[in-house]
Amino acid sequence: MMLHTLLAAFLVSAHTPIGAPKQVSPKHREAVAFARVNPAKMLKTDPLWVDASREVHADQGRIDQQLRRLAQAELDRYVVRRGSRKGQKLSLTFDDGPHPDFTPKLVKILKDAKIPATFFMIGHMADTYPDMVKLVASNGFEIANHTYSHVTLTKLTNSEADIEYRATNDILKKLTGKTPRYCRPPGGDFDLNVLEAGYASGMSTVLWTDDPGDYNNPGDEILLETETVRLSPGGIVLLHDGSQDTLDTLMKFITSCRRRGFEFVTLDELRKK
Ligand SMILES: [Zn+2]
Repeated sequence: MMLHTLLAAFLVSAHTPIGAPKQVSPKHREAVAFARVNPAKMLKTDPLWVDASREVHADQGRIDQQLRRLAQAELDRYVVRRGSRKGQKLSLTFDDGPHPDFTPKLVKILKDAKIPATFFMIGHMADTYPDMVKLVASNGFEIANHTYSHVTLTKLTNSEADIEYRATNDILKKLTGKTPRYCRPPGGDFDLNVLEAGYASGMSTVLWTDDPGDYNNPGDEILLETETVRLSPGGIVLLHDGSQDTLDTLMKFITSCRRRGFEFVTLDELRKK
């Protein structure tokens, strides 16, 4: 019986065509589903969330005081909507990773093409796939904060939003040695409280100018078309670390942009006047 089972498993694997998707573990499946559906449910029992909650509550008085001193105009400085229109610069950003199937391929494409990029990582995904975070960091890409549970921050209390960012910074700092300087709220949903939460953790909130909707796997042509139609200097392009279509079209997109005179730069470089 045992032997039959083993033999059957062997025959199945021996007949798996080359290029077929490999089997993934239930933990992996769960993490991927989590990253893709935005369940708007905080991971409040997760040890990292609990730790960050303690830190935030201990710090609350100091943070509130700091924020009260800021005027709206000052807080506006902490939102990056686009870069300088001077020159022909674009910046690529990849949300929702890291991801063991996609991140290494994405890193390789960007590295080969000498393209800098920013990875807005979900804290929970970073905790599940720490090697992927290290891979991105060791290849010189900027790592940024996309909340711990990938929840809609405008629906949370101030301290919950603080905790979402803080827990993510804690894990990213532990893995890379660096505290992220940029954050992005899931879905781009933000209000003053959300900006303050980013600021309280020392980050600027980065939005985007172009969203080709790559996470829906729209297909090569649509993705390329959408990506290239509206691009303008200083643009911040929102893409995803977790989409096969993004991997398939990225090089074509890069080539097409370069042909039109665009160069790809880091967010820091894009913001320079
Ligand atoms: Zn996201």
